Amino acid sequence: MNNAPTSFAIIGGGISGLSAAWYLKKLCPEAQVTVFESSDKTGGVLQTASVGDFLIEQAADMFVARPDAALQLCRALGIEAELLTTKPVEERAFIGLGDELHPVPKGLSMMVPTLEQPILETALLTDAGKQRYLAEDKIPRVEIDGDESLKSFAVRRFGIEAYEKIIQPMVSGIYTADPEKLSMRATMKRFVDMEKTHGSLIAGTASSREDQAARGARYDLFRAPQGGIGQLVESLTDALAKFPNTNISTNSRVSSIAQSGQQWTVDFIRNSQSGNSQSFDGLIVATGAAAASKMLAGIDGQLSQLLIGIETASSAIVALGLKKNQLKKPFDGFGIIYPHIDGGQVIAISFSSNKFAGRCGDDELLIRVFIGGALQSELVDLDDEALFEIALAQLDKSVGLEGQPIFKRVFRWRNCMPQYHLGHVERVEQIESLVKAHTNFALAGNSYHGVGIPACVESGKNAALSVLGEKSPGNS
Ligand SMILES: Cc1cc2nc3c(=O)[nH]c(=O)nc-3n(C[C@H](O)[C@H](O)[C@H](O)COP(=O)(O)OP(=O)(O)OC[C@H]3O[C@@H](n4cnc5c(N)ncnc54)[C@H](O)[C@@H]3O)c2cc1C
Repeated sequence: MNNAPTSFAIIGGGISGLSAAWYLKKLCPEAQVTVFESSDKTGGVLQTASVGDFLIEQAADMFVARPDAALQLCRALGIEAELLTTKPVEERAFIGLGDELHPVPKGLSMMVPTLEQPILETALLTDAGKQRYLAEDKIPRVEIDGDESLKSFAVRRFGIEAYEKIIQPMVSGIYTADPEKLSMRATMKRFVDMEKTHGSLIAGTASSREDQAARGARYDLFRAPQGGIGQLVESLTDALAKFPNTNISTNSRVSSIAQSGQQWTVDFIRNSQSGNSQSFDGLIVATGAAAASKMLAGIDGQLSQLLIGIETASSAIVALGLKKNQLKKPFDGFGIIYPHIDGGQVIAISFSSNKFAGRCGDDELLIRVFIGGALQSELVDLDDEALFEIALAQLDKSVGLEGQPIFKRVFRWRNCMPQYHLGHVERVEQIESLVKAHTNFALAGNSYHGVGIPACVESGKNAALSVLGEKSPGNS
């Protein structure tokens, strides 16, 4: 134990890296912790901006309370009482197809219809499509050897129509993914297991108390800090700054790392000045996989190759501020998702101020239009005016728009959404077994075990446990 590590570097000051720092200090208060963040602020993609009385989320606008890693962190930071739940509204999400908006049928547990009536009543599907969707429990189970894509799985179980009009847009809204490449095992393993154990997802969902309780009720698990998601980052950063021996070094881009015996040396460019170097007993790399791959190229070529194979997608968010009376049709839902077969360029429109209180004035609306994703990544490179045009045209088509917005802003997220493609689980297993061969070293971030904020917090916690030589329940 006399070789126990006491100084740690964390590369990346997003929620994963900050969570790693938090748990390192909680588990080992005497540890010396330095977080290197290349930009001028912490939070990574989690950023909140203000324009007048509009509180605009630049990327994520909420986290789920189950799994509860993010909720627990908020509790530990003393901001749990400031978490908002969603506003009560009758119909929360809509599917935009052609000129029509259809409510998402009630009772969907992700892709599984747990109630018959809403499927029979929706105008989204033809009669044949409805019958096929609801007949999933009559479709024989198929033993698939290895991984399967979302598209293959969903079409096989529920038919092409339900896949194209309901399942594809719902899943794209979450993973911004190409469903022909998205790994079921990496993203929705419980449905794969259900087919194996119950023969059908409808039967499996009916026998699961959790799924019964969750019938379309995931919205009840949504949480957002009153001050926006940036409040979580700010509280965490402030709490870390109060710990002794903790340094959050912004404007510090790590250019290379080296391993020598039990020591890790980090070279970094601080405030545009190169030539800085510092050594540590332990290292956590909490950047995206591509940046981690680059840093590790000279240390472990095989690990670096596996990391670079984790692809990413890009998207743009157009934030719009409006007066409520600028909408021709009043709309109190949380949002609209658009199937790829509709042929448009918008993935989804989120009505942020309908979801959470305090996002703008009472007579105003805050709207975010999502463009791009894995199926149309190139759209992120359009100029601002072209993106505004796409966003405003889709909004006008769906709910009718009069006049110009009070403000409009574009936020681009290039290569920020990791894609869990076929074989992801095996790739991550290989990555983790190679990581174990390096002393006091761990990876954290959204590239491995989940993209949501709770999964990122958990990845930071597991990385802290790992470099301290303690067992973590999930990943290494
Ligand atoms: C548009 C969008 C919407 C989303 N919406 C939601 C949502 O509503 N709810 C939800 O739960 N999740 C959502 N997510 C997912 C979630 O926000 C992210 O997965 C999560 O915030 C990623 O955190 P991270 O710390 O792993 O990575 P990042 O936030 O990417 O942080 C990595 C950090 O590493 C730094 N860095 C990189 N290279 C270096 C280097 N060489 N030296 C020093 N620093 C470096 C970067 O500057 C960055 O700050 C969304 C994601 C996007 C892109």
